[in-house]
Amino acid sequence: MSLIVQKYGGSSVADAESIKRVAKRVVETRKAGNEVVVAVSAMGDTTDELLDLAHDVTPIPAPRELDMLLTAGERISMALLAMAIKSMGYDARSFTGSQAGMITDAQHGAARIVDVTPGRIRDALDDGAIAIVAGFQGFNRDTKDITTLGRGGSDTTAVALAAALGAEICEIYTDVDGVFTADPRIVPNARKIDRISSEEMLELAAAGAKVLYIRAVEYARRHGVILHVRSSFNNNEGTLVLNENAAEAAKQEDGSAVEAPIIAGVATDLSEAKITVVGVPDVPGKAAQIFKIVAKTDANVDMIVQNVSAAATGLTDISFTLPKSEGQRVLTALKAEQGDVGFQSLQYDDQIGKLALVGAGMRTNSGVSAKLFEALYEAGINIEMISTSEIRISVVTRADSVNEAARVVHRAFGLDGEGTAIVYAGTGR
Ligand code: ASP
Ligand code: MG
Repeated sequence: MSLIVQKYGGSSVADAESIKRVAKRVVETRKAGNEVVVAVSAMGDTTDELLDLAHDVTPIPAPRELDMLLTAGERISMALLAMAIKSMGYDARSFTGSQAGMITDAQHGAARIVDVTPGRIRDALDDGAIAIVAGFQGFNRDTKDITTLGRGGSDTTAVALAAALGAEICEIYTDVDGVFTADPRIVPNARKIDRISSEEMLELAAAGAKVLYIRAVEYARRHGVILHVRSSFNNNEGTLVLNENAAEAAKQEDGSAVEAPIIAGVATDLSEAKITVVGVPDVPGKAAQIFKIVAKTDANVDMIVQNVSAAATGLTDISFTLPKSEGQRVLTALKAEQGDVGFQSLQYDDQIGKLALVGAGMRTNSGVSAKLFEALYEAGINIEMISTSEIRISVVTRADSVNEAARVVHRAFGLDGEGTAIVYAGTGR
């Protein structure tokens, strides 16, 4: 008997009909002779609605209470799914994150899993039942409080259960057919990727691809969990996310290594802003001083660019990107130290878009950046910042041209498919 963990996102359990459809799928998997553990997200946009509700009550909800509130969303879907399965004559039991043994640190809203003790899940399986677990939530042993794992955290719940229970595979069910070479909502002729290495998937997730949550990919990579991202609306094979060795072995086996693509895909991100520190004295220690101030705010800085200093003035500009939500905090912190650092002024720009091109083949192929820049030039799109890693090139453009940038780059690298990719529900979760 193999053990399969399945995760259903909010769009797959959005209403009673969808829950019944998912129940059928779960039962099919059980009937095929597998043990089944299911992690569920909250129905549809429940989490957003609960968040809005909290903010209608108070501008800054207490983090502990907010977690109590948000975890209710997943409890609703877990109970309904268990009922639906039982009504079909199969045994099912729902469990909260804490009952399922998801032990986390104490950080409300962004807790990290520190241990998984799925004793009750194992017992349920041994009794022949299907175990349904509320995603996105855990429990801290010291505070004895309920925590949440951060938005999109149900993916992590599923992966952590798969690792702890030694599952054969972790299936992530969503409303698209798998991981695409670009977001099909932006690049309509994006192609489904059959197999991708976890390394590439991490870069894509970090660069804004929303189909998988980055912490889940990290967890899967660390624990050797194989992910299968697929649609809950059909039976098509989706995308397998494998660690490099497994990916390589699979390619050798079916001969696809010969035509392995250089580029895996393109991702875009509109959630960042750019801060420019203007007129920084070009002497040793200034960058250190600036980024120490930034680090104290706990901001997540992404790209950093320093200009050549103007010979006449000995002053330079330093720009960096960060999540828009952290912009004001960092501006305030820098402003407070302006005299000390000795810069002239600050500029804030939240109309930027980021595009990333990801592919393990970049390591061994030259000319990738030239081709990327050429494609953007031909489309008349200006590049404002550039950064690279071993397997990624990212550029910053104006926000309103980043979607067009994704389309032209996708085409330039031969990623365009024949047909139009289908989005079944529309939320991408
Ligand atoms: N319901 C939570 C969210 O919307 C967790 C999840 O869906 O994975 O972020
Ligand atoms: Mg959700």
